[in-house]
Amino acid sequence: MKFDTVIIGAGLAGITAAIRLAEEGKNVGLVSAGRSSMHFNSGALGLLGFDTDHHPVDDVPTALVSLLPDHPYSKLGDAYVTRAASDAADLLRRAGVRTVGSAVHNHTRISPLGILRPAWLTLDNIATLDSLKSLSESCVAIISLAGFLDFYPRFIASSLEKEGFRCEIITIDTPELKALRSSETEMRAANIARIMQGDTLLSFARAIREAVRTSEATALIIPAVVNFDGDGEALRLRKAVGRQLFYAPTMGVSVPGIAMHTRLLRYFLSLGGRLLNGHRVTSADFDGDKLSAVYTDKFDGDALRADNFVFAAGSFFGRGIVALPDAVIEPSLGLDTFAPSDTSQWHKPDLFDRQPIMKAGIAVDDRFRALRNGSPVTNLFAAGAALAGADSVREDSGAGVAMLTALYVADEILNNN
Ligand SMILES: Cc1cc2nc3c(=O)[nH]c(=O)nc-3n(C[C@H](O)[C@H](O)[C@H](O)COP(=O)(O)OP(=O)(O)OC[C@H]3O[C@@H](n4cnc5c(N)ncnc54)[C@H](O)[C@@H]3O)c2cc1C
Repeated sequence: MKFDTVIIGAGLAGITAAIRLAEEGKNVGLVSAGRSSMHFNSGALGLLGFDTDHHPVDDVPTALVSLLPDHPYSKLGDAYVTRAASDAADLLRRAGVRTVGSAVHNHTRISPLGILRPAWLTLDNIATLDSLKSLSESCVAIISLAGFLDFYPRFIASSLEKEGFRCEIITIDTPELKALRSSETEMRAANIARIMQGDTLLSFARAIREAVRTSEATALIIPAVVNFDGDGEALRLRKAVGRQLFYAPTMGVSVPGIAMHTRLLRYFLSLGGRLLNGHRVTSADFDGDKLSAVYTDKFDGDALRADNFVFAAGSFFGRGIVALPDAVIEPSLGLDTFAPSDTSQWHKPDLFDRQPIMKAGIAVDDRFRALRNGSPVTNLFAAGAALAGADSVREDSGAGVAMLTALYVADEILNNN
């Protein structure tokens, strides 16, 4: 099979590069081994939430200046980061993913643990501090579902009370969820969303209306357990409840994250892109300084050929890189990686300290071309969490690094072909 570009990995980085190239009329093959971190995304995207001293960032351009030279943003340059962050928000909009937020000033969102954290973009029906502060009264009711363990209303209440809100916690016990409730492993957000449709949704809305009948709350916060794809159930519930309603993210597999992923993939397919779902790239052919073909575990001997390739297979979570007892490796193409050579330097004893191993990843040159045996593979670009140099969980920069490096490598491919 021959493409203009083959992209390895369909997380946020891979899909972003795929969309950018497909929008320019390129024939793109997107190879995906499985679930990406988007399936756990909280419905909010981070550009740079915390600076190098782990202080929350308000003004992003100012904080960018202090990043180390090996950080992907430092390689992109501050001006590019600010410009591309706004391009990334536009791309999401074109794909039908509606968000609020700015690339210059972070806003505050509620994390799945109920903690307030800085964010770049948040899905438009997920609660942010700004949306709650715009209410006429600072009194909110947090709705929890009996037996649902992936949502922490008391933590949310405690965070909001520090911001001057009065909070009430109301637990709803709907008979429709009885079957799921019988097993803790079944009572998860994605499973609940599957049955929250039609009459079940209306019955849930009735239960909420009844429970908040005497409440003074001007707005309700409910866990994101309702289908977010399109304006479907999330909007229907909002209307049926008859009060201002915001969703808050949950732990585990995330309904807003899946919805975002689905929308982006659907948009890519609508542009004529080809998705090879459930395929893991396992080996490759190189021709001098070029990658000529990759092979997957599903196509028996059939090569995927392309003029250019993008490596967007993620970090340890996506298994784009793997930690062995004595080294960090990239298992499918044999690319060079960056990690402290002394393994005793990988971890610090304090779990909440900066962990050097989290900055491990693929080594690239200044054009984000992946290195192999010390030299760039001239038609293989790397993007996203696969890259070395960012500690995206600690910095809350994962989505920004994914989207901005993906846009950069897509433009490198477009400008050089
Ligand atoms: C659990 C979790 C939750 C997160 N939540 C957030 C959040 O709420 N907000 C935020 O801003 N950031 C979040 N992040 C940070 C996240 O890393 C980035 O936001 C970003 O989504 C990373 O995207 P990526 O495409 O680079 O990597 P990934 O999302 O890891 O995607 C890589 C993809 O490549 C596939 N793959 C790997 N190897 C191969 C192969 N050989 N062949 C084919 N496919 C392959 C994997 O299966 C996976 O689908 C989270 C990270 C994790 C781990």
